[in-house]
This record gives sequence, structure tokens and C-alpha cells, in this order.
Amino acid sequence: MTEKKLRVRYAPSPTGLLHIGNARTALFNYLFARHYGGTFVIRIEDTDRERHVEDGERSQLENLRWLGIDWDESPETHEKYRQSERLDIYQKYIDELLASGKAYYSYKTPEELASDREKQEEQHQAPHYINEYIGMTDDEKDAYILARKAAGITPTVRIHVNEMAHYAWDDIVKGHVDFEGGNIGGDWVIQKADGYPTYNFAVVVDDHLMEISHVLRGDDHIANTPKQLMVYEALGWEAPQFGHMTLIMNSETHKKLSKRDTNTLQFIEDYREKGYLPEAVFNFIAFLGWTPEGETEIFSKDELVKLFDEKRLSKSPAVFDQKKMDWLDGEYIKHADPERIVDLVKPYLEKAGRADDKLKEIAALFQPQLKSGEEIVPLTDIFYEPYPELGDAEKEVLAGEGATTVIQAFRAKLEALQDYTADNILPLFKEVQSETGIKGKALWMPIRVAASGLVHGPELHIIMAVLGKEEVLKRLGKY
Ligand code: GLU
Repeated sequence: MTEKKLRVRYAPSPTGLLHIGNARTALFNYLFARHYGGTFVIRIEDTDRERHVEDGERSQLENLRWLGIDWDESPETHEKYRQSERLDIYQKYIDELLASGKAYYSYKTPEELASDREKQEEQHQAPHYINEYIGMTDDEKDAYILARKAAGITPTVRIHVNEMAHYAWDDIVKGHVDFEGGNIGGDWVIQKADGYPTYNFAVVVDDHLMEISHVLRGDDHIANTPKQLMVYEALGWEAPQFGHMTLIMNSETHKKLSKRDTNTLQFIEDYREKGYLPEAVFNFIAFLGWTPEGETEIFSKDELVKLFDEKRLSKSPAVFDQKKMDWLDGEYIKHADPERIVDLVKPYLEKAGRADDKLKEIAALFQPQLKSGEEIVPLTDIFYEPYPELGDAEKEVLAGEGATTVIQAFRAKLEALQDYTADNILPLFKEVQSETGIKGKALWMPIRVAASGLVHGPELHIIMAVLGKEEVLKRLGKY
């Protein structure tokens, strides 16, 4: 599709755990690269020292790996793939812009800037920086700079904005986008007082030097793109192609997914901790703002790589539906190798003190209904908690006609059973049916309630096998 070799990147700021929105950005860049045989780069954007989180980088990469995403270039294998290690590189280009007069030192203090903003707000104006040198003669400028330096003020570097210009691009997702230079907010900072470049500057230098061909990211970055185009122009570089993926909406609140939403799991770490299968999470994320042709929703990573088409990235918001995630995980668990499900549930059962010789049986029993590994624990209450207090529904079943008859007939059969296994228990229901003439719900419901204390649950003959003969006989004997 492109003449240039496709090179894309995921450029996280290590300010916290891997959020589903960032994971989506990584995943689509990964699919994009793998589909076209391009290169997938990971670069760490750690110039915001205030929001820097120790360990943020490691946890980002670890969670991406868990999802099944791999990459070709990263700080692990390539030098200077962290922005904090590239300060000399940015300095070179900042100096170039200062020398050509496209950028300048700005001595306005944070207090002055805040007071400007306040005034603008009072006058219902959009916040914008007012060039401090406007109206000064060269001598006045020199005197101003000297005075500021003498006062110990460290300058920032700002880039000149052409307020009359338009910054436009053909967005892979959104189509033609056009920003007016007048709406940028005035000359903006490319180097902060602490010597670090700002994101909008560093990102351009990096994307250019790393020969990034396509920048695919979340649409929270769309207002940054005109600023970045400005830097490309100032440095005389060709800009990559941009694509801004739509925001992710909470299916319940119908608002932008917020880290404060409590009805959804939003961090990849959460899914790992709760025992979701990574390929289910991968599959789920791949549908946040993208759909292939057709109705099918379950695709392996390889299939998604094959199917990926950037033209099918959706223009309308992606809906984050936790129920769908759980359904998908359930599907993946159901079809997984049983050995894998044993491994999946084991840590949770261990923690609950329930990882005993029944482990395999229990994993197999619940495999068809599990939505996550963690869910195994409450489901196994039936085997480890004392017989429950009966609820209304359960009492009603036991009060039904013929309930005692079937329970006792079944108990007699069980008692006589030599080889007590699930497979041998199953046919006993048929035998009791012919013997008593009671069938269907009226047959198995009373037995279920008597054995488990509940009207719902996994397959009865398996529950009985796991509970053991002695315990089941005891329970049925009560009715
Ligand atoms: N470091 C930016 C972020 O985490 C990435 C920006 C970009 O992709 O250009 O949001």
C-alpha cells in the first residue's frame, strides 16, 4: 500500500499501568506492521518527569508481552529508544530552530502566564500565549532579557506559530482534517525550563529520525497533530501519515471511558490478575474501533494479522462492553486445552486452600461455564463450604410431589454402586426414571437440591463424583 517501507510505533509514556486504550494503540500498530510485513517499534516517551512512574516501562512491556504482542525495535535491544536518553538529539534541533529564528527564548514566568490566562478567561477568550516581545524595540528586548536573566529566570523555548496558516492532513481514520493556525493557542513551548523537550516537539524528532511512516494513535492526540505538523515544516521534514482512532466509550454510561468507571476492568494487569486468557483479551481489543467483514467475532491473532485493514478502522466511537469481554473469555476458556485450564485456575484455588487432588476434576467440571480463572473459587464453594441453608426455590422443589420418592430411589442405587465414578452415576437417573415413572425436572431437580442445596449448578453426576460417595449418601439420606 505504500511505496515507503512501513514503520510504525507504539510510544508509551510510563506514567502508569497499561490501560486498555493504550493497549489498543499498541495492538493496532502491531497488526498494521505485521499485516504489511513492516517494522514495529516501541519507544518510551519519558520526558514528563512529574508523571513518571518507577517501573512503568517494565510493566508496560510485560503486559504487552502477556497479550501476545511482540516488536522489532525497543529500548531493550536498541540504544536511545527512551526520550530521556535523547536530550542531546533534541538540543541539536532546538538550536537549529533558535538559530534560524523559528524559535525563541521566552522568559514569561508561570505566574505571568497564569495571570494572562485568567484575564483571557474573564474576557471569554480562548487561552493563548501572548508574545512577550511584541511592541519592543531591539534595545528594549535586550534590556528585558538581561533583567529576566538577572532575576534568575530560566527561559523556555517557544516556536513561532503562523496564525494565518492551515494545518491539514488526510487522516487514515477521520479523512480530511483541517486546523487553523489561529486556534493553536499561540507560540508554544518546545523546550521546558528543565531542559526537557515537550512531547509535541520530541515526538516529531523521534518519528522522523526513526523513519516512522504511519502514526496511528488515539484521537485524544488529534489536537497535537497540527503542532507536530508545524515542527515538521519548521525543520523541513516530510510528515508521516496520521490516523486517529476513535475514543472508547463505556457501554453503560455512554460516555468516554474513564479511569474512574468502576463497572469495567480497564488495565491489562486486571485481566492478568483475574485469570483471563490473553488471546481473548487480544481478540476483544481488536474489536474496539475496528471490524472485519462478516459477523464472526472470534479470531486468533494470526487471523487478525491477515485480516487487518486500516481502512476498516471505525469513525464512530468504540464501545467498551465488559459483558462482551466476559463472554469472549468464556468462549476461549471453553475451547481451551483442559490442561491449560488446570493451570489457569490452580493459583486461585491454591490461594483459597482448595488445590487438592480434585483439582483436575474441578477444572474440567467448570471449564464450560467459567468466564475467568478467578471465578473458579466461588463456584467451588459447593465442594468446600458446608451444605447451604435452603432458599425458597430449593424448598419449593423439595416440597414437590414425588420428591422424596426419587431422592430415596436414587440414593439406593448410589449405595449399591460399586465403582463410584461420574460415568457410572449418570445412567442411574434413567434407572430411577423407569422405576418410579417420574421424569424430567421432577426427577432430577429434587436430587440436585438434595445433593447440592441449590437449584443451579454444573452437571449433577460430576458434582456427585467430586463430593464423594459417603458425603452424597449422607446428604440424600436427609430427605
Ligand atoms: N507518549 C504518548 C502517549 O502516551 C504517545 C503519543 C503518540 O503516539 O504520538 O500518549
